[in-house]
Amino acid sequence: MISYILTWIVTRFVWLLPLPLPPRLVKIGNPGRSSPVLVTCNWRLTVRELSYRLRREDLYLLVANSRGINVWCAAAGGHFTHHDVISIIKTSGIENLVDHRTLVLPQLAATGIDPVYIKKKIGWKAVWGPVSARDIPGFLAAGKEATDRMRRVEFGLGRRMSVALGWAAQLSIPASLVFVFVNREAILPLNVLIFGMSCALFMAFPLYERFLGRPSRGWGTIAFGFEQGGVQLVLWGLYTAGVVIPAGIIGGETVLFFFHWILAGLVVTLFLTFDLAGSTPVYKSVEHEERSFTVVLNVEICRGTGICTEVCPRGCFDLDRVRRKIVFARPDDCEQCAACIVQCPFDALSFISDRGERILPETTRTYKLNLMGKRQVRAS
Ligand code: SF4
Ligand code: SF4
Repeated sequence: MISYILTWIVTRFVWLLPLPLPPRLVKIGNPGRSSPVLVTCNWRLTVRELSYRLRREDLYLLVANSRGINVWCAAAGGHFTHHDVISIIKTSGIENLVDHRTLVLPQLAATGIDPVYIKKKIGWKAVWGPVSARDIPGFLAAGKEATDRMRRVEFGLGRRMSVALGWAAQLSIPASLVFVFVNREAILPLNVLIFGMSCALFMAFPLYERFLGRPSRGWGTIAFGFEQGGVQLVLWGLYTAGVVIPAGIIGGETVLFFFHWILAGLVVTLFLTFDLAGSTPVYKSVEHEERSFTVVLNVEICRGTGICTEVCPRGCFDLDRVRRKIVFARPDDCEQCAACIVQCPFDALSFISDRGERILPETTRTYKLNLMGKRQVRAS
């Protein structure tokens, strides 16, 4: 628990940097020859959290090399693939410790790991575990069955606070270091601004979430579309009013004072909402064509395997068990993560661009997101 909390605190300050642990096999409890085998990334916080959440279980945890990056980002960026899973299975000695050949993979790795490839190469069958570590005990107790809730990524209070502190710390550290040499008196109010603005942005998310839509392309829409600058403008406007009105009433401040702090508010707002590989739920950068893609289903090809329902982190699909077809029931909830397209064995799902062009599923599988969220890095 203490190790998990300490790691959580440290990761707030190095939010954007990889924090790897050596790939290895971790025994949790007293696992036997039929115990579950789980795979995870080697981001330090994930391993610490799993060790804590699973402390009452008996299982094997394979820590695969994701280059010190969390599961979702690593898989989407091509840093956590089926090759890494095969590598840890072959080098860890797990094949000598268990009689079965079933793996539990983290669901959010579905954008980058191909279970069919693993089965073909080394004979291990993979099932998709739940999104959150806290649901793994329930998932295992239910015979490796996940509920719909376990399959969804939630942006709840705890996660929002965690993101708010993480983003704020990234800006707070360099800004404070600069102001040690420039103006030490400004360090405290500057940090109040950074942490206050970050908390306001992420904690108020449920209030403006429904106004966020799909970004339309074209620079002219920036600052007018709520998802493309509107949130930042509102936040900056509220902050500016919060500075100008009280300071104006009290009096005695110079024009330079207002200029500095209003400009600081703008810089902080823009940093906190910067679209780094889709890291902010607020701002969807228009220069990434992929953000305007739409998932389309060719229902004729679909054979109702239900795999897309297991990997979609937004619960967009319903399975029609009578017709053995999938229903794309909630397309507006889609966040273009591509997991369903990557995993569909019959290529029944694909992206379509806003110009009406179909992006072949094979292309979606091959190209991964770079740090700026653009699909251009070729997967290994
Ligand atoms: S994964 Fe493909 S074939 Fe299976 S249900 Fe989904 S769309 Fe249909
Ligand atoms: S429907 Fe959208 S959110 Fe769900 S898996 Fe497919 S791309 Fe991702």
